[in-house]
Amino acid sequence: MSDLNASRVDTIFRDCLFSEEEDKADYVEAIGILATVHFHPGRLASYEKEIKLLLSELPDSFQEKLGGGMSFLNACMDRYDHQWTGLHATMEQLFLLGMATKMVCCPLPRDLWPALPGGMPYYTVVSSVRGTCTACGNPIALEECYRGYCDDCWHGKTDGYDRSQNGCTS
Ligand SMILES: [Zn+2]
Repeated sequence: MSDLNASRVDTIFRDCLFSEEEDKADYVEAIGILATVHFHPGRLASYEKEIKLLLSELPDSFQEKLGGGMSFLNACMDRYDHQWTGLHATMEQLFLLGMATKMVCCPLPRDLWPALPGGMPYYTVVSSVRGTCTACGNPIALEECYRGYCDDCWHGKTDGYDRSQNGCTS
């Protein structure tokens, strides 16, 4: 039985959006097919493990190390060949959450989508996320793990402290 579940995807997606009264100055943006959304960074981060689990239930064809990427249209199925949702909106919610957490990439630019099946993009569930940044807690890729900081924190773009300038590697 798959952990990929349409109502759970919808619940996480809605919880990661901002409420009316919240300060929206700090946000994580994700650009999907029809929607561009701004997520609450803290709540998004709190669901990171679960989003990773949900994405891992997509068919092998979507996984970077296995199939390398697959059409959005095939994302209604899970890796047990069971249809987990019939709604494109729900599939897009999952990919928006994945892109916002840097666990999904869209390898082909939008101007090439019309040449793809159904005019829909391909998505890849990346396997390069290997840890979290010591300063901001965002996921970091394998190549960033040796230093323990994401690119922004390493170069002082987030907190103003440029760690690359004093040889700090921990
Ligand atoms: Zn960082």
